[in-house]
Amino acid sequence: MSDKKYIIVTGGAGYIGSHTVLALRNNGYHPIIVDDFRNANKDVIERLESLLDEEVIYFSAACQEEPRLRGIFSQFPIHGVIHFAAYKAVGESVEKPLMYFDNNFGSLISMLELIKEFNVKHFVFSSSCTVYGDPKQIPVDENSPVSYNSPYGFTKKVNEEMIEQFIESVSEIKAISLRYFNPIGAHESGKIGEEPDGIPNNLLPFITQTAIGKREELTIFGDDYDTPDGTCIRDYIHVADLAEAHVAALNYLADANDRTTVVNVGTGKGTSVMEMVNYFQEETGVDLNYRIGNRREGDIPSIYANTSKANNLLNWEAKRSIREAISSSWKFEQFIKEFRK
Ligand code: UDP
Repeated sequence: MSDKKYIIVTGGAGYIGSHTVLALRNNGYHPIIVDDFRNANKDVIERLESLLDEEVIYFSAACQEEPRLRGIFSQFPIHGVIHFAAYKAVGESVEKPLMYFDNNFGSLISMLELIKEFNVKHFVFSSSCTVYGDPKQIPVDENSPVSYNSPYGFTKKVNEEMIEQFIESVSEIKAISLRYFNPIGAHESGKIGEEPDGIPNNLLPFITQTAIGKREELTIFGDDYDTPDGTCIRDYIHVADLAEAHVAALNYLADANDRTTVVNVGTGKGTSVMEMVNYFQEETGVDLNYRIGNRREGDIPSIYANTSKANNLLNWEAKRSIREAISSSWKFEQFIKEFRK
């Protein structure tokens, strides 16, 4: 039997997934992408292959296509599954809750069924700091109260609990849910990054698209919050650091005492929207067209992570700066403009 550590990465052609594929491969794992490309471009595969200088193993399949997935699980000895594939837009989830329930619950159920059937021992789940709702105390640690204010947040919270209850019923499987804060940035080459479909919801893609002329202006959603400069505060983490947290999570699971755990993955530092805009202008020299607008419904004023658990348990910490993240995103925006011509 092969001693290669094959890792199924669902949603591996997506933003965080593709960076994780690189991090896995660069750390001796053998990623297998399972993605149905409904939210990702197939050309991500070629770009990954050019960065890795080798072929990437991928299958075009949805998580709920169990018969197809069974074929993949039978073909390779699978060491672990990292489950990214899910819908992730808060606003869309409010409009289409059933679509979110169907996909985000259904995909997880399929993956759990498969790991049980094929005796896969390690499972890493993409959760989100959205499970903290509007926290009373910041920074938030893993024991902070959880709540949700959208169907999307509800799916993340319930998914975490589904994993915990499932793990109770099977021996030998260990799982970890990583609660991501705000991923930003791109690969240092500028060839892999975040390419949202349509109008971006997230701040940095909106900034880079405005700077390159795809959007007219950035609206800063409110400057009357109870924060030092009045704009909201988030914990922005470089996607390459976040990707490495998945490698650390797999390494941890191999020897973990606890069979399930949840871990915050952030930097531990809060940055305001206004600071992000200023960093962007300083880093790129581009004058950004922006205005102050109304608050966006559902936004929380401030959140950032207590990262002690990730530091101690996973032996991981964020290493890259916000400025590095911003300049890599800008490099990617310029690359993708040419690439899509
Ligand atoms: N934001 C903004 N204008 C935009 C997009 C986002 O001012 O066009 C703000 C938003 O109000 C929030 C922060 O940027 O305070 C991060 O928003 P994002 O949607 O990226 O992350 P989330 O709110 O989900 O943490």
